[in-house]
Amino acid sequence: MAGSLEGDFESNSEVSDGRQTTRGDVMIRFDNVTKVYGNDTVALERVNLGIDSGEFVFLVGASGSGKSTIVRLILKEMEPSAGSIYVNGTRLSSVPRRRIPRLRRDIGCVFQDFKLLPNKTVAENVAYAMEVTGQKRRTIRTKVPQILDLVGLSGKMEKFPDMLSGGEQQRVSIARAFVSQPPILVADEPTGNLDPTTSVGIMQLLHRINRTGTTVLVATHDREMVDVMRKRVVALEEGRLVRDKVKGAYADEV
Ligand code: ADP
Repeated sequence: MAGSLEGDFESNSEVSDGRQTTRGDVMIRFDNVTKVYGNDTVALERVNLGIDSGEFVFLVGASGSGKSTIVRLILKEMEPSAGSIYVNGTRLSSVPRRRIPRLRRDIGCVFQDFKLLPNKTVAENVAYAMEVTGQKRRTIRTKVPQILDLVGLSGKMEKFPDMLSGGEQQRVSIARAFVSQPPILVADEPTGNLDPTTSVGIMQLLHRINRTGTTVLVATHDREMVDVMRKRVVALEEGRLVRDKVKGAYADEV
């Protein structure tokens, strides 16, 4: 379907600010990270984690185990209570507030509830994400149809989100997250609102994106999906990292 277009989304070796990333570099690193909400809710406890460039990693665990907290810390939506976090070579605690938007340009985000703008068409939703990061109109005009073709939605560019199925809406949000080819894509329960068949398609799409060189981190408690994909699985239990398997299944023993 998107054969000839894939070339445009293939090489991810040079990120937007000209820094070079190569497969094997550490993309996300947590050093002894603890996060306490308020005075006494320990959401993460001394988490150590390294994710290399080009990896596909599932972050699994029961509800409340700390998955979203990890995602929010990567996005620097909040600070850890202790420990250090590095994203794409940058220590997050050294990034001043005004530089956070710049940092987030390196991280495409996909959420369970899609977060599409209801009054904009599919094409406008994707274009808007590029406009706010200051990309040229000509680049936007070229890239939007290409990425929508890549996610299998070229026939729905002028539709509004509420005219699409859940799976299609999630494809739009993946297109939006990936259109500027960030080195990292983070998805928080991307199949949480979707039926199993639709979920398979979404995971395959994330896998294809990973094959272009993008590091992909998927937080989920979709056991079946994790078991089928046979990717690295990092498991959390009550804020502790309890398992890290290269080609794991959801419920592998420690
Ligand atoms: P998951 O994504 O695995 O469901 P979370 O990271 O959302 O887990 O939550 C981890 C723990 O932190 C839970 O005990 C949750 O109740 C608590 N928590 C999450 N967000 C907040 C918050 N903003 N304020 C207080 N406690 C929170």
